[in-house]
Amino acid sequence: MFKYVSTRSGLQVSPSEAILKGIASDGGLFVPSEFPKIDIRSLENSTYNEICLKVLTSYFYDFDENDLKNYIESAYSKFNTPEVTPVKSFENLNFLELYHGPTLAFKDVALSILPYLLTGAAKIQKITDEIVILTATSGDTGKAALEGFSDVKGTRIVVFFPNNGVSQIQRKQMTTQKGDNVHVVAIEGNFDDAQNGVKNIFNDKNFNSELETMGYVLSSANSINVGRLVPQIVYYFVSYINSVKNGIIKMGDPMNYTVPTGNFGNILAGYYAKQMGLPVNKLICASNENNVLYDFFSTGVYDKNRPFIKTTSPSMDILISSNFERLLYHVSGSDNDFVKNSMESLISDGKYSVPSKMKENIDKEFYGGFCSETETENSIKEIYEKFGYVMDTHTAVGYKVYKDYVENAKDNTPNIILSTASPYKFTKSVYESIFGESDLDDYELIAELSKKAGIPLPNDLIEMCKSKDVHDTFCEKEDMKDLLRGLLK
Ligand SMILES: *Cc1c(COP(=O)(O)O)cnc(C)c1O
Repeated sequence: MFKYVSTRSGLQVSPSEAILKGIASDGGLFVPSEFPKIDIRSLENSTYNEICLKVLTSYFYDFDENDLKNYIESAYSKFNTPEVTPVKSFENLNFLELYHGPTLAFKDVALSILPYLLTGAAKIQKITDEIVILTATSGDTGKAALEGFSDVKGTRIVVFFPNNGVSQIQRKQMTTQKGDNVHVVAIEGNFDDAQNGVKNIFNDKNFNSELETMGYVLSSANSINVGRLVPQIVYYFVSYINSVKNGIIKMGDPMNYTVPTGNFGNILAGYYAKQMGLPVNKLICASNENNVLYDFFSTGVYDKNRPFIKTTSPSMDILISSNFERLLYHVSGSDNDFVKNSMESLISDGKYSVPSKMKENIDKEFYGGFCSETETENSIKEIYEKFGYVMDTHTAVGYKVYKDYVENAKDNTPNIILSTASPYKFTKSVYESIFGESDLDDYELIAELSKKAGIPLPNDLIEMCKSKDVHDTFCEKEDMKDLLRGLLK
């Protein structure tokens, strides 16, 4: 069987170890040394859960199949539609709605099942220490992880979010989180600061041994964990199968996928699906004004030396796309040294470049585009007026970049746009794009948006907005380690 290897050295581990560790001890990310294959034709009449089981057993082969089946059933019964990830189609536009889970964003797909995978992995590895999940969030991961891990025995979860970098609804979702094992901390800094702080904690060997003597082992719910990545592969297969059923494509024909991207996790799952045998033509990578990836696809240089822009699609306000490291590993022919050197120069110089041959390989698979703030607003309005369909700001970025792609590349391959959040998660931006400026805040606009646009309101959203905060911890970005020490005392 294949192993999970670090992108930065020859280090090898089993599936359950890779899930448990989250990040390799050399700072690299775990990747499968080989891609399992799935014959798409074998999935033709399968349900979401059946396809999920096929994908998960192929990657996590040291788990018991029955256990995985139970995890899947528990995780996806929390979604508000039996299809889990339905597709809405208008003319040649197909939106794969990934936001029908408990926290209204696509991260629920992976984070609903991650707690089961992690505690399952601990059982396989005979770990008895308490697992402490450390997570940096640009808004959506934090809430989805809190919801997933809340009151899960044998775990604690600490979420760090940028104090001024999340929407009012995102913040409220986190600060009202229930559970005896949850901690929510606002960081004075941006998402990259929070993410770097968490990475530093993982890479600090002394601190980790200190925690070990206290009976704790650290793990991550960030999209660097393979336990996050693999469940995201599933909906690429599912949406393909459903598109065959709905006559959008013929079995075996290629599909394009457009993915609003930040940390490069969602779109990387599409790349993995392709390596496993899914007929994918192009993966269209859509950035907002923090367009580091767009520039990379244009020039072959990844350069994060630029101002950080706060946009209305905050879950993609990211300058260091962590999962891009995995792509570099795969397209470099598993060249650990190349990845290690590139990541080191990203830290020392804020940039690295790839040789032209490698860039050509990347260009075969990906197209990069970006969308400005004005274009995001206009796109939301345009699609609402044309089809009565309400997109959130992140999905709008995807739509605009897809439109550009069709115009530039003259490629009419059927396409699926991944819709990553409910419009209610970013109510004010969405509402104002369609109906113009308003003095009302996010909370007040929820009911307005529902009334005016006629879209169903998620059950407990209004109630949540009214409930009291139970978390109010602040922390400077330099003090994250001390804070953690204090929380775990
Ligand atoms: C996290 C997130 C993204 C970006 O996903 P990545 O895997 O980081 O590329 C896009 N949209 C929403 C709503 C998100 O929460």
